[in-house]
Amino acid sequence: MLVDEFDVAVVGGGHAGIESALACARMGAKTVMFVLNADSIGQMSCNPAIGGIAKGIVVREIDALGGEMGKAIDSVGIQFKMLNTRKGKAVWSPRAQADKKLYREYMKRVCENQENLYIKQDEVVDIIVEKDRVVAVKTKLGLEYRVRAVVVTTGTFLNGTIYIGDKTFPAGRAWEPRSEGLSDFYKRHGFPLLRFKTGTPARLDRRTIDFSVLEIAPGDDPPPKFSFWTEPVGTYWFPKGKKQINCWITYTTPKTHEIIRKNLHRTALYGGLIKGIGPRYCPSIEDKVVKFGDKDRHQVFLEPEGWDTIEIYPNGLSTSLPEEIQWELYRSIPGLEKVELIRPAYAIEYDVVSPTELYPTLETKRIRGLFHAGNFNGTTGYEEAAGQGILAGINAALRAFGKEPIYLRRDESYIGLMVDDLTTKGVLEPYRLFTSRSECRLYLRQDNAIFRLSKLGYELGLLNVDQYKLIKELKKEVENWIEFYKSQKVAIAVGSDVRSYSPTQLLTSERSIDDLKTYGFEVPHHPFVKEEVEIELRYEPYMERERKLNEKLKKLEDVKIPEEIDYDKVPGITKEAKEKLKRFRPLTVGQASRIDGITPATITSLLAFLGKLD
Ligand code: FAD
Repeated sequence: MLVDEFDVAVVGGGHAGIESALACARMGAKTVMFVLNADSIGQMSCNPAIGGIAKGIVVREIDALGGEMGKAIDSVGIQFKMLNTRKGKAVWSPRAQADKKLYREYMKRVCENQENLYIKQDEVVDIIVEKDRVVAVKTKLGLEYRVRAVVVTTGTFLNGTIYIGDKTFPAGRAWEPRSEGLSDFYKRHGFPLLRFKTGTPARLDRRTIDFSVLEIAPGDDPPPKFSFWTEPVGTYWFPKGKKQINCWITYTTPKTHEIIRKNLHRTALYGGLIKGIGPRYCPSIEDKVVKFGDKDRHQVFLEPEGWDTIEIYPNGLSTSLPEEIQWELYRSIPGLEKVELIRPAYAIEYDVVSPTELYPTLETKRIRGLFHAGNFNGTTGYEEAAGQGILAGINAALRAFGKEPIYLRRDESYIGLMVDDLTTKGVLEPYRLFTSRSECRLYLRQDNAIFRLSKLGYELGLLNVDQYKLIKELKKEVENWIEFYKSQKVAIAVGSDVRSYSPTQLLTSERSIDDLKTYGFEVPHHPFVKEEVEIELRYEPYMERERKLNEKLKKLEDVKIPEEIDYDKVPGITKEAKEKLKRFRPLTVGQASRIDGITPATITSLLAFLGKLD
């Protein structure tokens, strides 16, 4: 029964679905968001945290494109940190713990108040296609909605199956119902479905933890924010009247490992129940114990799930062991000897469609107007999902308006890099972003995301004219300061010599931009401008080197790899890279570079080993 008409339907209200739906609606498309449960919009299925290495940069890119994730975490974060600060500023990345309940409430409120966006609690079970073009979606309640484009973001819900030891039941997340109908749609249209899996730890009762024996892991002071637009713009911020919450660190013990080894056959994965492929970079504790048998302990972060809840997330302890063994396992860890579990750990298996079915616009090659984003594309992580979500949403709206799609290049954003990796290399296991996947690590930074992408955000109507005007002014100011410093010299006595130095030469790892005052230079007043000028000046020579290396790498793409190569002898490449190179045995470096998980850093090491880097 045809009931209504929309420009775009977004299937899902997770992290991909939210950014998709908001982008569409903000671009003026009449948008409908379908969710299985309207109260779970923005639910954090696993770790209540946003950001981290590379992921934090993606959140800033989403923000620069007019997305919501950065603003949300700034509003409901309980602990903020800038990661990688022991390394140069070019590789810093923000991460924050969220109040899980407030995050969900924030996202639901934003979606509810978004003009052009309508929320419907119903399961999409079919997509109607005419002449290879999407024309409508059909729901479980038998209703039909005419649409010009659809974005599918079903996360871990499609044909989801939960495993806790040998207990298994159909569900999409925790105890929520799964979705089913769409798998048939994909089979009917010849899309290859893959089966992936992931897992989450138990949630612990904070009243039963002995914090006195644990290391404290505090947040940063001042806390780094995510959104450029969190007031006051360009400075640091924290909710009024709230203090950051501490996290804690503990470690597994030889006893923990013994319990796991003794019961390995009772886990869903090692017991053979799960066939799906899991995320290499968020392994379960049993995976860590098996794969790193020589380690006698693994670090565990105890992270509160909010300001006003007793639930604690033990980061690093996901497992699919039976619940009674989970109790034993957790209680073998210092501080957790008397711990009570609120929710058991579980693993989940679900359907995804290979992302090689997609153009880099995230539209499918088989059906016009059908877009995919998020975990459904074989990725893992909220930020990866949201980054694809905003791109798919933008292109779905453009498709509905009959306009040209947009692409994001891999050398201009991590979102572009991720989409390029996904659509050209495909996925053999859940895909997660890392800075090592990029050839332009020094350029794709968290601090300059707003300069890299805000023009596009403005042109799409996702940033307003005042926002873009401010960014243009700040950019001009940064350029003027850089030009000024480059034109300056100062004479400094070195022993009996007097040498001439430019401000750029004076900026070393020991000297900050503020130290230029000692040499008689003015420095920018605006904190954002000051930071940007410092980073640009300090990293310019390295970025130039990066650019030259990339040009060289392009020319060397056809270099042959001898068939008899012993990858164990190639220094500086990871275990994962060795495994994949041995499995695929590429004949050229170009071929090697297109294998999922083979990073630019691996290619550089391989070229060096083959003597082709000079
Ligand atoms: P989701 O957040 O899963 O959202 C899917 C949305 O689609 C939901 O709103 C649902 O209601 C809706 N939906 C589904 N089917 C339909 C339908 N047919 N009709 C209407 N609505 C529908 N992330 C990590 O980074 N590392 C981890 O190790 C990790 N482990 C996890 C472990 C578990 C057990 C789970 C459940 C999640 C885990 N995650 C992990 C996080 C998570 O799955 C994703 O990374 C993130 O939530 C993906 O966002 P998404 O928008 O793609 O999907």
